[in-house]
Amino acid sequence: MTTWHASVQNNQALQAWPYPLQYGRMQEINVDVLVIGGGVAGCRAAISAARKGASVAVAERGHAKRSGAGGAGVDHWHGACTNPCSRVTPEDYTRAVFDSAHGYTSGAVRFISTREGWDTLLECERMGVRIRDVNDEYKGADFRDDETKLMFAYDYTNRHILRVWGGNIKPCIYKEMKRLNVGIYNRMLITGLLTAGGRTGARVVGATGINTRTGEFFVFKSRATVIATGGAGRLWSFVPELTASSSMGDLNNCGVGLAIGWQAGAEFACMEQTMPGRLSGFGYAPYSMANAHNTYHGTPIVDARGKEVPWVDCRGRELETSAQRFLPASGQRFILGEGIGLGFYNEEYRNNALTPDLPRRIASGEFTLPLYADLTRLPLHERRVIFNMMLTNEGKTRYPIYETMRKAGFDPEKDMLQAPVMPIAGYAHSNFWGAGINTPPNVRGLAGGGYLVDWDLRTSLEGLYAAGGAPLFGGGCHGESHTTGRYAGRKAAAYALSAEAPDVSPAQIEAEKARVLEPLSRSREGIGWKEINYAIARIMQDYCGLHKNELTLRSGLRLFAELKQTELAAAFASNPHELGRLLECGALIDVGELVMQASLARQASSVYLDFFRLDFPENDPADWRKLLPIRQTGDGVAVRELSFNHHLETPNAPTYEENYRRHCGEK
Ligand SMILES: Cc1cc2nc3c(=O)[nH]c(=O)nc-3n(C[C@H](O)[C@H](O)[C@H](O)COP(=O)(O)OP(=O)(O)OC[C@H]3O[C@@H](n4cnc5c(N)ncnc54)[C@H](O)[C@@H]3O)c2cc1C
Repeated sequence: MTTWHASVQNNQALQAWPYPLQYGRMQEINVDVLVIGGGVAGCRAAISAARKGASVAVAERGHAKRSGAGGAGVDHWHGACTNPCSRVTPEDYTRAVFDSAHGYTSGAVRFISTREGWDTLLECERMGVRIRDVNDEYKGADFRDDETKLMFAYDYTNRHILRVWGGNIKPCIYKEMKRLNVGIYNRMLITGLLTAGGRTGARVVGATGINTRTGEFFVFKSRATVIATGGAGRLWSFVPELTASSSMGDLNNCGVGLAIGWQAGAEFACMEQTMPGRLSGFGYAPYSMANAHNTYHGTPIVDARGKEVPWVDCRGRELETSAQRFLPASGQRFILGEGIGLGFYNEEYRNNALTPDLPRRIASGEFTLPLYADLTRLPLHERRVIFNMMLTNEGKTRYPIYETMRKAGFDPEKDMLQAPVMPIAGYAHSNFWGAGINTPPNVRGLAGGGYLVDWDLRTSLEGLYAAGGAPLFGGGCHGESHTTGRYAGRKAAAYALSAEAPDVSPAQIEAEKARVLEPLSRSREGIGWKEINYAIARIMQDYCGLHKNELTLRSGLRLFAELKQTELAAAFASNPHELGRLLECGALIDVGELVMQASLARQASSVYLDFFRLDFPENDPADWRKLLPIRQTGDGVAVRELSFNHHLETPNAPTYEENYRRHCGEK
């Protein structure tokens, strides 16, 4: 394999487009279940649908073997509540998340994720992912159960989060998909949903796509469709030369999955919720340097003179031993764990962490920069499990930290790892990303909003199911994405196997094909996709940033409408890659409009949603404590009100378990 640089250097010229161009060609695929997005959720959806006997196709923007946020690996699996060592029930966990989110999450999604999380992980084990310390490397460690050989993270008493050797998890599920004869369509950008008769709000009967190497147009006709397209980066920031686009997000995850549902008339919840742009790339690459969070939880941090930074419990009380960092405080129910799509943690579920007043103590001279991670201060097993196991399986640390440092001769038994040196406010959080201080406050990220689903994980549109992280309202992290994918795939297959044949509209297909291919025939004097993406990010920052009011939001909507009619309508693409990126820009504008419309609908500020309307400054007034599901109709936008507890109200059953049993189907 040659690299781009080697090719340019050897030939002294840019390469011609290396794939056969097939513009104008059209391929039609007919399946029971179409899965859009081959990340971990999408692949699991495909596997469970195929096991139910459905014919399945997966359309993936990258290559499903390693694509998506979960493609590089995973080191801890949240919500394995039914594992034999867990002391947390799925209901305990769901209530803890629901209460911490103050109702702004999906109780149904959270319960399904934790009710089946362990079963889903056991399936991973059968596919070749190691989830136990089979070689007895950590025998006798506090975080290990000697009978099952399972290993725990964050909370060694309650044992619901498992450490796993998930560096190969994506190749394992990819192999299983192939074994089950799932049709895998890599390099496929899905551009739109097909609806019965081409009508907005009607049953979803497939999707259209474009191969971003050949330019060939694809029509997928399906009885059921699962959408699992991950998050939506590139919306508030796009400065790749400055930020590597985003230091953590996958460039291919840019909200197309949300946009196509918005266009088709599906209903969304909490799209007005945003968070600071922590993953925007303005800080340090998450976990790329010394810190004490997530994968590094428990790591001792010392200052330049060797003085150790104290840890505190959920109530801010200083901990005396390193062992206490992995235990709930006295009287604390259990520790929920980090990275599960939560902006708030109620005290009774909060994690132990470095003392949050560290910035003040650095300013006063008590601690001297730089800071370092000193793993030698941990007991042997703790030191080795962080460096040798967690860092090698976690996607974002294997190469920048483990491989690079090892090659350079770093030895965790005696060396220390330096933390970034940054404005001291950045040390208030144990992750040391520096994003809070380096990212402009108007650069935001989506946070938790997505498709509103029922207990089948079905969206408001017949035939359309949602799974995974961001496209699903209430979606969590890695393990939860596998689990909702597995469940949604099963439910989609059950529906598809008794559903009528798709009633596809030829006019809808022709119109979409013309829209998708049009930029190829435009004048080369226009602008390209990157300029459009900059403009989108600037509009979001200025008109839908941290503070907004009705006027800024309406101005943002007007500017998006103009951008579509002017620059976007004139932008050109020179090859299938640029075409894909340009189409994604169109989708980003749709998502921006969805966020602005949802922001207009909520006429109150909310601390819990990190949502601040200058024209409605009161935070969380009682009459605005509700969801505001939003959708496009043929001629406008419709918003309704929905109680936080709708998933336990009529026509649903009053308990989580009862609803689950009614809907889960045969596994
Ligand atoms: C580096 C890193 C490390 C992480 N570590 C952990 C961890 O240790 N534990 C944990 O719990 N969580 C972790 N997370 C979070 C976790 O990986 C995600 O929550 C999870 O991957 C979400 O799964 P998903 O399938 O919903 O989305 P993804 O895995 O992102 O997959 C979405 C897929 O959809 C495809 N796609 C997007 N748009 C289209 C389109 N229009 N057409 C076709 N395909 C499309 C994308 O190419 C992508 O492959 C980590 C995240 C990152 C980035």
